[in-house]
Amino acid sequence: MNTSKSDELFSIANKYIPGGVNSPVRAFGAVQGNPVFINKGQGCRIWDVDGNEYIDYVCSWGPLILGHSYPAVVEAIHEAASKGISYGAPCETEVELARLICEAIPSMEMVRMVNSGTEATMSAIRLARAYTGRQLILKFEGCYHGHADSFLIKAGSGMMTTGVPTSPGVPEVLAEKTLVAVYNDISSVEQQFRRYGQDIAAVIIEPVAANMGLVLPEPQFLKELRRITELYGSLLIFDEVITGFRTCFGGFQNLINIRPDLTTLGKIIGGGLPVGAYGGRRDIMQMVSPSGSVYQAGTLSGNPLAMAAGLATLKELKNSDWYDRLEVVTYYLTNKLKPVFEEHDYLFEINQLTSMFTVFFTENAVNSYDHVKTSDTEFYGRFHRALLKRGVYWPPSQFEVCFVSCAHELEDVDITIEAVDEALDEVGQR
Ligand SMILES: *Cc1c(COP(=O)(O)O)cnc(C)c1O
Repeated sequence: MNTSKSDELFSIANKYIPGGVNSPVRAFGAVQGNPVFINKGQGCRIWDVDGNEYIDYVCSWGPLILGHSYPAVVEAIHEAASKGISYGAPCETEVELARLICEAIPSMEMVRMVNSGTEATMSAIRLARAYTGRQLILKFEGCYHGHADSFLIKAGSGMMTTGVPTSPGVPEVLAEKTLVAVYNDISSVEQQFRRYGQDIAAVIIEPVAANMGLVLPEPQFLKELRRITELYGSLLIFDEVITGFRTCFGGFQNLINIRPDLTTLGKIIGGGLPVGAYGGRRDIMQMVSPSGSVYQAGTLSGNPLAMAAGLATLKELKNSDWYDRLEVVTYYLTNKLKPVFEEHDYLFEINQLTSMFTVFFTENAVNSYDHVKTSDTEFYGRFHRALLKRGVYWPPSQFEVCFVSCAHELEDVDITIEAVDEALDEVGQR
């Protein structure tokens, strides 16, 4: 595979941009070799600057559920741009998108648009703290909620008391305000609540964990979480930045029939442009300025291009059979992957939900962060490179989810399966 232009760009990039990338995982640090620089995307395919073609299972990390350059989305952006790129004043499309979101996710009675998922979660916990008059936040090990200080916290081993920052620069006084519990382990939550319950402003969780690879919630876990938070008067925040409009037209909460107090969104609702949103109960949301006193603002929030892209995406998904189709194509893929790994004698676990899946290189069923960590990441790295050479762009980390888009056809899946088969031949035994 010729990657000379990508390699050259990467060396220049390294001079001007830390690590040569604008978001860490893009650097392929967890796998082998340099990243490839992409300059075109169409449907389920991307092309790099050296002309190599790939079937894409990253899809911009989730936003591109319709695939690259979906005509209706491109057209909506063109049309919006021709009328002005940003006004810093209210526009019609932001009202339309807000209404569509609130209608699709009943627990969201009101919504505020922001520019990223990070902004959404950061604002949601500020609001939760203001509403409850409490300071502590409870999150789960292995769940990602963007890069705000309060979320860059990892638990110590066993039953943690106070959080330890996972990044330098996070003040300890803030880290102490974030408690950590174990995903799918309600007793770890109860333990924290017994001790700190009266001071916990909110529990924030990815209802389906999709930032440690894909880890599904056990049936009673989220229900129990709803019960405990209600009991203690803490807010429940579902971070649906990935799952929103991914698992169905609405949030994952629609499928399991649980009403969180607040929900955060991003990714798909921006159709590939930078967008986030947070919303929920009206009495809580009305505390946000200017209707209330909780300050939160944004120069480009509700940007007309971003709103147009999000609106076009959601309109395409609404009342369509896309979700059924996505599930069929993804199931076809994971089902065909299994015998390929088995034939090569690999120990693996595949977790899948609708159009998301992860192949974990481990022998254990994976339903918590501890299980995730048993995966063979070194092997994953070699597998990733071997696949890339064969035209399949898989996430460059064992802990990132594969996304299937509406543009992936069964034929693309067949090509993928063949590439996986050959890649496994190349990388040999673990
Ligand atoms: C991506 C993601 C975020 C952060 O969104 P950004 O737009 O990258 O800031 C927050 N929460 C979850 C669950 C995410 O997957």
